[in-house]
Amino acid sequence: MKSTRIKDLLAMPEDTAVGASVKVEGWVRTKRGNKNVSFIALNDGSIIHNLQVVADAEKFDEEILKNITTGSCICVQGNLVKSEGQGQTLEIQAQTITVYGGADAKTYPLQKKGHTLEFLREIAHLRPRTNTFGAVLRIRHAMSYAIHKYFNDNGFYYLHTPIITASDAEGAGAMFRVTTLDAQNPPKNQDGSVNYSEDFFGKPANLTVSGQLEGELCAMALGKIYTFGPTFRAENSNTPRHLAEFWMIEPEMAFYDINDDMDLAEDFLKYLIRYAMANCADDLEFLNKMYDEALLERLKFVADNTFERLSYTEGIDLLLKSGQNFEFPVAWGLDLQAEHERYLVEKYFKKPVILTDYPTSIKAFYMKQNEDQKTVRAMDVLFPRIGEIIGGSQREENFEKLEARILELKMPLKDLWWYLETRKYGTAPHSGFGLGFERLILFITGMANIRDVIPFPRTPKNAEF
Ligand code: ATP
Ligand code: MN
Repeated sequence: MKSTRIKDLLAMPEDTAVGASVKVEGWVRTKRGNKNVSFIALNDGSIIHNLQVVADAEKFDEEILKNITTGSCICVQGNLVKSEGQGQTLEIQAQTITVYGGADAKTYPLQKKGHTLEFLREIAHLRPRTNTFGAVLRIRHAMSYAIHKYFNDNGFYYLHTPIITASDAEGAGAMFRVTTLDAQNPPKNQDGSVNYSEDFFGKPANLTVSGQLEGELCAMALGKIYTFGPTFRAENSNTPRHLAEFWMIEPEMAFYDINDDMDLAEDFLKYLIRYAMANCADDLEFLNKMYDEALLERLKFVADNTFERLSYTEGIDLLLKSGQNFEFPVAWGLDLQAEHERYLVEKYFKKPVILTDYPTSIKAFYMKQNEDQKTVRAMDVLFPRIGEIIGGSQREENFEKLEARILELKMPLKDLWWYLETRKYGTAPHSGFGLGFERLILFITGMANIRDVIPFPRTPKNAEF
């Protein structure tokens, strides 16, 4: 007999379900009962709900029932019956039970409920078995699917950009070196520096911090593309919003100006939130109950309201007038910190904000220069609880202006020759942005720490699992 997922069982209409002979496989969450009967809460990961297994002691070896402990994995065959228990409509009356794998009650770490998230991070190999991580991982899946669906339905092509790169151009963050040289004894130049011409790629190579530059090359051919892949930043920032390895979604669109870019970002984010509300209701309700009672309300609010759009300069004015005691200074020309972003979003406007036209000096070289000579056509989307969730811009499409900016920043022009050629041959106005996938999942799940929304987080001093 083929097994049925618990999600599918619970979705069956009651009259076909009751009496049906089925097989289910999963992990035991709890077992209680008395010497006549055991009640086993079984979870197979397909859905947050458990299926109750009722095992009459007279039908089973004492040995088998003894081995069914919290954490063990079992296969049950039996008939579905209507449940009298609270909060469930169906249960399974077990005919046969096979124990695939036991879990010693003395050592299994997830014996009881209510572990702290900090403790669960130390057992990242087992935490997927908790309700919380089951919910988070199913939501991650649903959001990945929705991202591809949104772009596919809107005429974007999925583009795979390289993970290893020899250009250190974007300056989005410190990079991880990729090398096959012997760390103990690398080949040296006359002056004592490492001779990278003997390295695998013949020059220093790193893990990518962004697929944008390559994304732009292909937007100049396919029109609208998006990337969705891992990115790496070696910053030593131990915050609840930064990972060393995270996933980023980067759409890049020919013929879009910054307003089109903002419209896309807003529509995309709202689509994803609505998708989660429509398709992850059980998991969201669980997270709302356990972690963040304002979650569902906040998701609906963001999906239903227009984002506030204003310039960085206007934002700075509001912050200066706010009368707040910020930890970090506020002045025109300084980058905004999360506390500033969250003041604008949570206290002042009380909704998501898109800030535009940032000072040239705090933004990347490729952003389109404004007439005022002081600002660029950047746009950052700021969200409640998260701060920056999206960073984007219209790109500088003018060859001379872009080249002048690269020289002004003393960046290695020769390493960027391929990027500049897009401006030399058939250049076009274009725009794009980067959405940090884990920041999105933080927002959707209401979790507070980015380490709890990725299965195996990479942060400074942490890459064991
Ligand atoms: P922040 O100012 O928050 O450090 P950033 O300005 O360095 O972010 P961008 O280079 O604009 O970020 O990257 C685009 C998006 O990628 C950000 O809006 C954010 O959602 C996400 N992001 C950036 N750095 C990280 C990180 N270390 N971990 C997780 N997500 C990140
Ligand atoms: Mn940014």
